[in-house]
Amino acid sequence: MRVAIIGGGIAGLAAAYELETARAAGANADYTLFEAGSRLGGSLSSEAVDGAVLERGPDSFLTEKRAAIDLCRELGLGGDLLPSNDAARKTYIVVRNRLVALPDGLMFLVPTKLVPTALTRLFSLSTKARMALELLHPPRVDHRGDETVAALVERHFGAEVVDRLADPLLSGIYGGSAAQLSARSVLPRLVEMEGQYGSLTRGMLAAHRRMNAAAKTQVRNGKSNKNAAAPVFTALRGGMQQLIDTLAARLHPAAVRLAAPVSGLAKTGQGWSLNVNGASEMYERVIMAAPAWAAGVLLRPVDPALGEDLSAIPYSSSITVNLIYSEARLGRLPEGFGFLVPVVEGRALLACTFAHRKFLGRTPPGKAVFRAFLGGTQNEALLTETDDVLAAIVRRELSEILGAKTIGLNVEPEHVCVSRWRRAMAQYAVGHQERLAHIGARLAALPGLRLAGNAYDGIGVPDCIRLGRRAARELLAS
Ligand SMILES: Cc1cc2nc3c(=O)[nH]c(=O)nc-3n(C[C@H](O)[C@H](O)[C@H](O)COP(=O)(O)OP(=O)(O)OC[C@H]3O[C@@H](n4cnc5c(N)ncnc54)[C@H](O)[C@@H]3O)c2cc1C
Repeated sequence: MRVAIIGGGIAGLAAAYELETARAAGANADYTLFEAGSRLGGSLSSEAVDGAVLERGPDSFLTEKRAAIDLCRELGLGGDLLPSNDAARKTYIVVRNRLVALPDGLMFLVPTKLVPTALTRLFSLSTKARMALELLHPPRVDHRGDETVAALVERHFGAEVVDRLADPLLSGIYGGSAAQLSARSVLPRLVEMEGQYGSLTRGMLAAHRRMNAAAKTQVRNGKSNKNAAAPVFTALRGGMQQLIDTLAARLHPAAVRLAAPVSGLAKTGQGWSLNVNGASEMYERVIMAAPAWAAGVLLRPVDPALGEDLSAIPYSSSITVNLIYSEARLGRLPEGFGFLVPVVEGRALLACTFAHRKFLGRTPPGKAVFRAFLGGTQNEALLTETDDVLAAIVRRELSEILGAKTIGLNVEPEHVCVSRWRRAMAQYAVGHQERLAHIGARLAALPGLRLAGNAYDGIGVPDCIRLGRRAARELLAS
């Protein structure tokens, strides 16, 4: 079986690894991975500067989604997995230029602890009163239709919680806005809870009780409760690039083609014909792991409805700016991992991670690494600014938010690394599940084709790995 994999991001690489593993075990699996760019990894890319690991794209994966950790262990990287420094975990929201810590007990945007919620400076008194009354919220009767996250959260907790909590948290994950993202796709648990309990707070408290009871039962039965000690995030000592380099080294060198953009795709009697750098090549199966906007263009001639559905999935762009400072030249930083900036604050910065605090041991002693995010759906124009302008914006806003005594404008960073990610993050807009159902129906008529990547069923690195590997396994079984 000859398989073409289109796209060498983490989804395409995970698919290739699965096929390579099967091939090495004797399966009839011959594959070629086509990557348009000059390097593998897509959004995963890190740089080592004087002993500091800088993440240009993602810095870690959620520990509870096992696909990434399982893959790292399979690749022999278990010893290089690095837990987030959860003892120091604290995240702030910028409210009128001041940092306000997220209150303790927030679960998926839902407050579950009375005292921290009552005492926080994040919300006004009227919002706090509304949060208390939320316990009486009736179940939603017509819960089958989709809606925006903003509509769901506002119905329960009010507009201030959308602006100060939902929006900044989602823009940190999706680079998108709560007013566009689909509640059913992004917060399916909350949608279910609303149908069952009415009140999201009651639903979350019930889920919490069930989790605690399950953990106690495990302990009673002599099993260790692994999740209790698990860090929220896991990274790699050498950065995400370590995963990409290790994966690439496992693939057959002749099976990986860089600077090989697939520019045409056609279905033939025997399989698929690909146009690459002016030449035509035949394959029996295809794993499409390019972004949906690129997949849409390639698949439109094969199935116009499928092409249209894929092209209609929106994407957002973002920019990361990593800055290394000498700690001796900075004032005292607030505790914790960093802060999120609500859109209503009117800033270019969306978020900033204190990378040297979030993952210990990847920054030399005496250095601080700030990893700032800009862009998102609201601020795409920033992509055309020069590196110098972007670095100057970040330095000015950091100084305004953290205070000139902490990080003065006269203090020069020792190193600056700017990365632009154009149309890199799929946005699960309202109606995403219906669109996926259409796409699934069209794919059923094209059995030699599979899709993988962040546009479908999970935006994070673990989801992309899971979908890439699943696509390969399905083709092997077909
Ligand atoms: C700044 C940033 C921070 C993030 N932070 C996190 C995080 O901390 N944790 C987390 O879990 N996730 C994070 N994510 C999300 C996650 O990194 C991405 O969703 C994931 O890496 C996407 O992988 P992919 O393989 O689907 O797509 P991509 O990485 O976009 O790869 C697709 C590849 O296809 C190639 N391609 C396109 N067209 C063609 C063609 N015609 N022919 C051949 N090749 C083609 C592209 O060149 C690209 O290399 C972040 C993303 C970004 C951008």
